[in-house]
Amino acid sequence: MNETGSGGLSDLLVLKIGGAAGLPLVAIAQDAARLARPLVVVHGVSGRMKQLAEERGLPERMLVSPSGHHYRHTDEATRALLVEAAAQVNEEIVEQLRAAGIPGESFVEPLALRAKRKRAIRALVEGRPRIIRDDYSGVIQGVTVEGLRSTLAGGRVPVVPPLAASEDGPLNVDGDRAAAAIAAALKAEGLLILSNVRGLYRRYPEESSLVTKMPAARLAEASEWAQGRMKRKVLGAQEALTGGVRWVRIGDGRRERPIAAALAGEGTCFHA
Ligand code: ADP
Repeated sequence: MNETGSGGLSDLLVLKIGGAAGLPLVAIAQDAARLARPLVVVHGVSGRMKQLAEERGLPERMLVSPSGHHYRHTDEATRALLVEAAAQVNEEIVEQLRAAGIPGESFVEPLALRAKRKRAIRALVEGRPRIIRDDYSGVIQGVTVEGLRSTLAGGRVPVVPPLAASEDGPLNVDGDRAAAAIAAALKAEGLLILSNVRGLYRRYPEESSLVTKMPAARLAEASEWAQGRMKRKVLGAQEALTGGVRWVRIGDGRRERPIAAALAGEGTCFHA
């Protein structure tokens, strides 16, 4: 590990594993085991949430902000389910890393992120503007880096769920933006976001319109091409680059050796 003067690890990689169902955790863990660099894993939970919500008969409700961002309406019952889903996915990832020979360490308790609850959310519900007051989503305020750093210093891999601690209990935060905040706080070299697409498409869903390189100065354009949940990945990329991370890549988590492929230049690379 290369310690930098500012307390970071110069070759640290933050890996965000998308939560949508179908990403092969075994292949991702095996590929991670081939990396000779320190690693932090941040994961999503959307696939598991969908499954648990269906099993428990709790409908999933999505809110659309006036700026077009989509997020989960997290009332109290949904929050409880989210905490359960996050713990399950987190444990599975730690288990798959262990099977691949990587000592992973869960950051479910205590949580590594801190956030402030959004008490009044402006959203369009069925096209109409409304104020939502029963939501347990948070705006990320900071990262408690000490625990992450000591895990990394011990040669282990922190595994972080998309939840943040607050005075209102655990809050729902976006996984991509959580990964960006952690990458910036730990002064990571790069952030790799593995998802169920090949990268950012200029004309979604046309795969031939894959964007390969995107300088930070043109991120506003990228944000227009992104729809739905891809918008937050672009926002996360922007936050990470502004926070000093050298590059952010979005790569295809469904393929063989997904990390190696993305690091070799496949997918979309956002750079300073
Ligand atoms: P994850 O669970 O991996 O974080 P999300 O479902 O949150 O993934 O976001 C990825 C999704 O974003 C893709 O499956 C795709 O449906 C959608 N998407 C919207 N616009 C674009 C775009 N311009 N390029 C690529 N994907 C896009």
